[in-house]
Amino acid sequence: MSDPSSSIVLSYQHAAAVVRRALERVRTAKRPVERVALTAAAGRVLAEPVLADRDQPPFAKATRDGYACRAANVQAGGLRVLGVLRAGEGWAQGAIRPGEAVEIMTGAAVPAGADCVVMVEHVTLVEGRVSLTGPRAIGVGENIVPAGAEARSGDVVVPAGQRMGAAQIAAAAACGATDLPVFSRPRVAILATGDELVEAGEKPLAHQIRNSNSYSLAAQVTAAGGEPEVFPIVRDDRAETERAIEKATGLDVVVLSGGVSMGKFDLVEQALLTLGAEFFFTGVRMQPGKPVVFGRLREVCFFGLPGNPISTMVTFALFVAPLVRGLGGESSCGPHFGMARLEEEVRVSAGLTRFLPARVESDVHGARVRRIEWHGSGDLAAGVRANGFLVVPETAERLPAGEIVSVLEI
Ligand code: AMP
Ligand code: MG
Repeated sequence: MSDPSSSIVLSYQHAAAVVRRALERVRTAKRPVERVALTAAAGRVLAEPVLADRDQPPFAKATRDGYACRAANVQAGGLRVLGVLRAGEGWAQGAIRPGEAVEIMTGAAVPAGADCVVMVEHVTLVEGRVSLTGPRAIGVGENIVPAGAEARSGDVVVPAGQRMGAAQIAAAAACGATDLPVFSRPRVAILATGDELVEAGEKPLAHQIRNSNSYSLAAQVTAAGGEPEVFPIVRDDRAETERAIEKATGLDVVVLSGGVSMGKFDLVEQALLTLGAEFFFTGVRMQPGKPVVFGRLREVCFFGLPGNPISTMVTFALFVAPLVRGLGGESSCGPHFGMARLEEEVRVSAGLTRFLPARVESDVHGARVRRIEWHGSGDLAAGVRANGFLVVPETAERLPAGEIVSVLEI
């Protein structure tokens, strides 16, 4: 669809599905891979699975301090204690027999012949013999994790496509994987457009504003696992916009902010058309973010995000972040929505999916959300007070207090 007269305005759900489809296409493409030290792997996406190099745990492991023995004869009492076994030690004195026990520490390998560990809190020790204190049933396997219970040698412990967090890093270390193949970060071009913009370090004239979108976008790109490349501000001029876009298509994704509304100097779509772009959508029935544009210029996906800072942020989180994650090889791409109980009724007019700046407070019992007062999608101060965006579906006019609602996390 690249006819200049045609506009493709979709519902939020439909637009999200279009991005997911594009994501499936980029997922199948082969991504470059690099190796990084485990200590530098946090936040990177694993390109090949980490396999267990031996059974985990590698031996039947005591999970409590106590006495290793046979469950069948522990009730009879008075088990003879043969010695003490610490974590990191092996038991060299042969299998435990009925009537015998070995004092054992958490993490130690349970000696052959023993099939349970009785907790030290549950026994009485008299003259080298240990018996249960009071009536208590002990089952086979109690307080022991069998060898290989967590993973067998050769099993996938961390699948490819997972982003390395603390658990994944620990699991890789446990397998001796001290350097890892990870996907290269996709490079994302960031182009802010607008005649009114000056760089953040400059002193704006009365009628000028500082470019904040390039900074928020760079932060969001990094958080999505991409490498931001910020281009100089693009003036509202067709030829300049075309030149800048042309340059930016050397990267993996192009993200423009501003210049996609209906104004006389909103030239981004025209410039893209001239360059031969294909548009997947040119608007979404949502607020903020209605004029958002998504398409492809040759093999490179581009997004034209509306310039109002909150619109830019929300549309990035909803549409761009999933694509960047997918290009980075991640299998779970978002966007991520949480559930929270609405504290106060919300009324809107139907017809647009709303993403309203909101404050979510959560504790062990769950999350509560309330709207934040704002002065429209340029209100960065409201954006700072918000820690999420309350979702009001396109057909809803009212969400009653107490309702469980969806909140976009960014
Ligand atoms: P536009 O989408 O170009 O019509 O811009 C909409 C509003 O967002 C205008 O008030 C712009 O001044 C503002 N805006 C556009 N680009 C940026 C930017 N890079 N940083 C901060 N505000 C911007
Ligand atoms: Mg503009």
